[in-house]
Amino acid sequence: MRISLIFILLLFVTATVSAQTPDNRDPTVTEIWTPKPKKVTPGPSCGEAPSDAIVLFDGKDLSKWESAKEGEAKWEVKDGAFTEVKGAGDIKTKQTFGDIQLHIEWREPTGSTGEGQARGNSGIFFAEKYELQVLDSYESPTYSNGQAGSIYKQHMPLVNATRKAGEWQTYDVVFNAPRFSEGGSLISPARITVLHNGVVIQNNTSIWGSTNYRGLPAYEPHGKGSIRLQDHGNPVSFRNVWVREL
Ligand code: MG
Repeated sequence: MRISLIFILLLFVTATVSAQTPDNRDPTVTEIWTPKPKKVTPGPSCGEAPSDAIVLFDGKDLSKWESAKEGEAKWEVKDGAFTEVKGAGDIKTKQTFGDIQLHIEWREPTGSTGEGQARGNSGIFFAEKYELQVLDSYESPTYSNGQAGSIYKQHMPLVNATRKAGEWQTYDVVFNAPRFSEGGSLISPARITVLHNGVVIQNNTSIWGSTNYRGLPAYEPHGKGSIRLQDHGNPVSFRNVWVREL
């Protein structure tokens, strides 16, 4: 007890003395001049692809995508967007990625009659394994860790920042892939930060493993993977999709 008191007193005296003494140390010692961050030209407005982005959909065609099973991506391209076609199956990027920033815009169909998970369901799977949910949960109730912005069946979004069906919405995502040892054991889990319509809804969230509809999530070792979009039988549209490798 006495030692702690002396220590606190010493700290107080040191702080008081140093506050009154001019600091003559060279301030340049703590300046870092090289390397310089690479120069990037931001998109003309927020949400538009910056100069170093890989544009995955420019409004014209699905040439950067393919069916998740085999063959071409058979979703409908129209009016600068592409729309899920029931039964056409999931589609995925031809290119595979590790850590990325992703921008994607999505729109729920109007006039849906389904409820819960049957209302405007799609999803964005990072590395084809970890689903960021896309759903019309503006008002339609469902389980919290299954609504739009959830890491499906794991983490609910911090808030519900969803717009109404028929309005375009944005996801801006930072995804850090999991790391595995050479033996395949998990070194660090995947982490995800998501802004939904500019609002933080996942804040460096630790993902528990691959998305499973039944049972608990679990990790299996993997390398880079595609971004996969889910065909859940509802005509959800997407546009302005780009990534930056981190
Ligand atoms: Mg889904």
